[in-house]
Amino acid sequence: MEEAMQMAKEALENVEVPVGCLLVYNNEVVGKGRNEVNQTKNATRHAEMVAIDQALAWCRRGGWSPGAVLGRAVLFVTVEPCIMCAAALRLVKIPLVVYGCQNERFGGCGSVLDIASADLPNTGRPFQCIPGYRAEEAVEMLKNFYKQENPNAPKSKVRKKECQKS
Ligand SMILES: [Zn+2]
Repeated sequence: MEEAMQMAKEALENVEVPVGCLLVYNNEVVGKGRNEVNQTKNATRHAEMVAIDQALAWCRRGGWSPGAVLGRAVLFVTVEPCIMCAAALRLVKIPLVVYGCQNERFGGCGSVLDIASADLPNTGRPFQCIPGYRAEEAVEMLKNFYKQENPNAPKSKVRKKECQKS
């Protein structure tokens, strides 16, 4: 989770929504990602989508079955997955998600909708969540981001705050 937090910080520094995540299979990181929506100008490039694509590439390289790998992988993510990502996680059948803070705007694991455990027989498999891990840090980063999202707000403010903390 520490590494996911570092990736969220990197996203924040790059003026992206500060979300970072890792996909772990058999004690190995098979995919990781941070939000890169602004950089790619593609609204679907959430951290989880980046990590899933990396894990699929990892499977192709190693000749592993994506079903076997993702079906036993754990996702560590700093913020509750949104509705879109929760549906994607169901479709690739990731069984367990450990996350930090709630996603009050778009959360798909209970905050807005509960895609994670909904009865959706044609949309993959439900998954389990372990919420709240280092939630305070994760929510603090989101707050910093939404403060600086206004293009008129000076970016340096956020940096200063980060420095004060450490
Ligand atoms: Zn998402």
